[in-house]
Amino acid sequence: MEPEEYRQRGKEMVDYICQYLSNVRERRVTPDVQPGYMRAQLPDSAPMDPDSWDNIFGDIEKIIMPGVVHWQSPHMHAYFPALTSWPSLLGDMLADAINCLGFTWASSPACTELEMNVMDWLAKMLGLPDKFLHHHPDSVGGGVLQSTVSESTLVALLAARKNKILEMKLSEPDADESLLNSRLIAYASDQAHSSVEKAGLISLVKMKFLPVDENFSLRGETLKKAIAEDRKKGLVPIFVCATLGTTGVCAFDNLSELGPICDAEGLWLHIDAAYAGTAFVCPEFRLFLDGIEYADSFTFNPSKWMMVHFDCTGFWVKDKYKLHQTFSVNPVYLRHPNSGAAVDFMHWQIPLSRRFRSLKLWFVIRSFGVKKLQAHIRHVSKFFESLVESDPLFEIPAKRHLGLVVFRLKGPNWLTEKLLKELSSSGKLFLVPAAIHDKFIIRFTVTSQFTTREDILQDWNIIQHTAMVAKKFKGEEKPGSDACVVGKVLLYYVNLIFTFISNTNIG
Ligand code: PLP
Repeated sequence: MEPEEYRQRGKEMVDYICQYLSNVRERRVTPDVQPGYMRAQLPDSAPMDPDSWDNIFGDIEKIIMPGVVHWQSPHMHAYFPALTSWPSLLGDMLADAINCLGFTWASSPACTELEMNVMDWLAKMLGLPDKFLHHHPDSVGGGVLQSTVSESTLVALLAARKNKILEMKLSEPDADESLLNSRLIAYASDQAHSSVEKAGLISLVKMKFLPVDENFSLRGETLKKAIAEDRKKGLVPIFVCATLGTTGVCAFDNLSELGPICDAEGLWLHIDAAYAGTAFVCPEFRLFLDGIEYADSFTFNPSKWMMVHFDCTGFWVKDKYKLHQTFSVNPVYLRHPNSGAAVDFMHWQIPLSRRFRSLKLWFVIRSFGVKKLQAHIRHVSKFFESLVESDPLFEIPAKRHLGLVVFRLKGPNWLTEKLLKELSSSGKLFLVPAAIHDKFIIRFTVTSQFTTREDILQDWNIIQHTAMVAKKFKGEEKPGSDACVVGKVLLYYVNLIFTFISNTNIG
């Protein structure tokens, strides 16, 4: 393709994207395809000769779109939001053209410097402490963009592990590091995201999941007790991952209780605010940040609710040297005249190369401004909650926080499971389940910036209508038809288990 053709095709692509996103509500949210659907539509091997752009472009609607889940649809209510916006798309368009790999300051100074400045802006927008700022006289910390919260949590745990092992080496200089590693233990609540468990698996640090209170919040006393028990066993507690906005019901761990304990016991306090972090742009939601002054690291996804498309994860640390001592390697070919004086983000992350992600974040913050971002966040799911509350067939088994409403049909679990199964197969809207203790629940989030009250009302009507059908199914549960009902229940339980397994790793 020559530049002139790129100019023309690029404009066509922008038109296509505008049309796609503006009319996405008209498409079925979830695709009606089976595994392997694409196989028959593609040749076995790559073409030897160039294909025409008209052919390639035509295949988007023919081959790709039939298998797409339309995450930007107003009828998408599954997982957490993964929003995009026009300025965000423009940011990546430019970043993709520049395509620098900003591993060191010298590899593209603008890439590092914009990131440092925008991460400071964002920290201030959220009300994070000064210790997380690059540009502050009392700070040795700063923020960096990672690809995901999963990666940030792993980075934090690896840094905490390295730090503790170096500390242990002072009194046990001859001990093998792998043996020291085997004594380490970390904590999170039993509501924490699966990425916390994964970080434990990768780092070979034992991860203990602690019980929560009646509000699904991890409390100080529980942590204190666990630390004392584990110390008695000869284990070395190193790390707590506190969640602000859990995946299941958007619950908040009690930072003001956990923080002082981590401080007194020498544990690294990492905060996972993957979804809820965006809410802290609004001062009225910052009560959940009480205790943030004790945090060693904090992470959230602007790529969820802040309209900066994936991937874009903010990660802040209070001591960048703890990252350096974990991730620094110093081959000759990466050194530059400003090594040491300038920030080299390759020492803050697992991979070497990094994209120019801060451009899209910068474009979004500037285009909307803080006030419009706040207005966007305040437009939460209160309307849907009021609809559920007005119908006596339904219940809301956990308090709504921010934009996540969880609901279920009153009665046995299988009714709600049946409802969800019917809704999922309709393709008209997309919801996923979660569990609160022994209760099967459905999660509802508004995941599109284009969602209107009419969209929500339309989806609620579908949910109510489908619920009636599920209830009718209950009506068949009469003496004489038990065997048939049990058979049906068993059958959809089997189906649901498959659906559930593939859906439980939410977001
Ligand atoms: N932590 C929480 C609380 C989440 O809800 C999620 C995903 O929704 C994650 C971590 C994983 O985020 P990522 O996909 O950025 O790794």
